[in-house]
Amino acid sequence: MLVCWDGTYAQRLWCVLEMEDDKALIIRPVSWGPTVLLLFLGHWVFIVTYQVGVTFFASLQLDMAHLWLAMSGLMALPHVIILPVVLHAWRSQMRGIETVQEQLRRFDFYRDTACHCCAVKHIHPQSGKMMLCDRKILAESVATWFGSVSDFETVVQEKVSVVFQEKFQKYPLPYVWMAAAAIPNIWMAFPDFGHMIAAGQYTTAAAHAYGALSWWLAGYQAILLLELRLAHRLRRQRSRWWCDMLLNICIGLVCALVFVVVMMTELLFMLALGENSGQVLYYSLLIVLAVAVWRR
Ligand SMILES: [Zn+2]
Repeated sequence: MLVCWDGTYAQRLWCVLEMEDDKALIIRPVSWGPTVLLLFLGHWVFIVTYQVGVTFFASLQLDMAHLWLAMSGLMALPHVIILPVVLHAWRSQMRGIETVQEQLRRFDFYRDTACHCCAVKHIHPQSGKMMLCDRKILAESVATWFGSVSDFETVVQEKVSVVFQEKFQKYPLPYVWMAAAAIPNIWMAFPDFGHMIAAGQYTTAAAHAYGALSWWLAGYQAILLLELRLAHRLRRQRSRWWCDMLLNICIGLVCALVFVVVMMTELLFMLALGENSGQVLYYSLLIVLAVAVWRR
């Protein structure tokens, strides 16, 4: 069953009953939608910045080290501008998930759930006639299926709460969703790849394609996962809104610095081992890093 979850889900009587079937439960927080769109926007801004930067710095005819340094600084900007917004959405979502886990751990059938009939005091708002109480009917059904209402509460407290913990603590978003959001990075690689093939530079084109795929499917995903884990550790909402905003900006700055270090490391590999060999080894290490981070 697909659960499109938000903060009110655990308070709806029929929804809690449906969640008991944890074997076939696919939980998709509705907040994932805006988060993935923001990530896509961030990656899109990232590649536009890259293209503008490359064109501009190439016109200055900088040497490779200075070009790399200038590009690293420029590419850190989207981290500072877009990432804090993603981090804000992400930290809010993690707090929401924690709240529902807490609700489920202390779940009380009569106290925590709401249904329409009780909300209108069992009088139909249009006809004025008495309505049957869903809660009473469900309580009888639950007692038949689980032994008693109290046994059902124990199932929700012990099993459904754990399902939430297992599904959301380890990975912030499914890998495929994160890779889909990062797809502008592979679009960016097509023009250069085409030019290299047209010029007969097949080895360089192969290294370029390997690099683009490695960054898209491994490098960006590993770095983003580490960044989101850092944000998860700092998810607690601060007492003042500007403190919370400042925290998001500070995490974004840390991520920007990490990105500069990652890019400069690529330059060091190229200077030490030659352009193609250095890049291929570096990209291979990105894949190893991604596997290590995603397996943890
Ligand atoms: Zn009722």
